[in-house]
Amino acid sequence: MPGEFELIARHFSPATHHTVLAGGDDAALIAPPPGMELAVSTDMLVAGRHFPPDADPASVGHKSLAVNLSDMAAMGARPRWATLSLALPAIDEAWIAAFMRGFMTLAADHDVDLVGGDTTSGPLNLCVQIIGDVPAGQALRRCGACAGDLVWVSGTLGEAAVGLRCLRGEWALPAPERARCLQRLERPQPRVQLGVALRGIAHAAIDVSDGLVADLGHIAGRSSVRAVVRWPQVPRPGTGHDGPALRECVLAGGDDYELCFTAPAHATPAIHALAQRFSLPLTAIGHIEQGSPGVTVYDADGAPLVLQAAGFDHFRTPSG
Ligand SMILES: [Mg+2]
Repeated sequence: MPGEFELIARHFSPATHHTVLAGGDDAALIAPPPGMELAVSTDMLVAGRHFPPDADPASVGHKSLAVNLSDMAAMGARPRWATLSLALPAIDEAWIAAFMRGFMTLAADHDVDLVGGDTTSGPLNLCVQIIGDVPAGQALRRCGACAGDLVWVSGTLGEAAVGLRCLRGEWALPAPERARCLQRLERPQPRVQLGVALRGIAHAAIDVSDGLVADLGHIAGRSSVRAVVRWPQVPRPGTGHDGPALRECVLAGGDDYELCFTAPAHATPAIHALAQRFSLPLTAIGHIEQGSPGVTVYDADGAPLVLQAAGFDHFRTPSG
């Protein structure tokens, strides 16, 4: 059975590309370029809560980094360095190798250096810290939404939640749609390039990890404004299912890792240009107005859907 140092040397010491010192000492050394601020975030994934214990390890590796990259995207930061800490129930080198393949493939896609971490024995638990950089003063924040802004989302919302329902056997979909939704659940694509490109365009941004209404609610709360969403405009999966169950997936399903942002109306042509540049749908789904902080969603008939406090819990997926 390999010892900790052997394991680290074999699996957790990939080459780095823009790091002063990655391994072998008590800490890594990184050198942010002059004029940049560092954006730092961390996310923990626990087996049985965030993914099934028997999930494909390469997908778990991908997702553990993807959710962190998504936080960088939401800040308009370019991800640069990551650390990875794992608690593993047993040393299963095939599992570790597959996990690292998923993790490092996505890291390479985004030019992220793995610069450190830790391993220990324990219930399967993964903790990734991501460090990115962003020009000083240009980070996208949650607090900048203004009355009159349009509310935008990237991609399609609800596919990951639909995928979870398929996985649980609650919904049946034709094979191609099922595969697409499972892919969204297991291999989310963080919108890093979009986040960087939205610097100077978006007034406020967040990534949709907990569900649109909850996450847009954070923008509304931090910006002290009301967000209005038109349900018919929200991009959703074409599943054949409709009604409250689909609405719950689209408005409250987590794990989409799309970006939700607000921007002044005059930025609309620039946003359409970004959609073309990245071949990624960007859809205006509502607007920001003055009012008590929160989110109102109007259905096709113009009637508000009840989503505040107690009612909101109804829309939460159990895995939240
Ligand atoms: Mg986030």
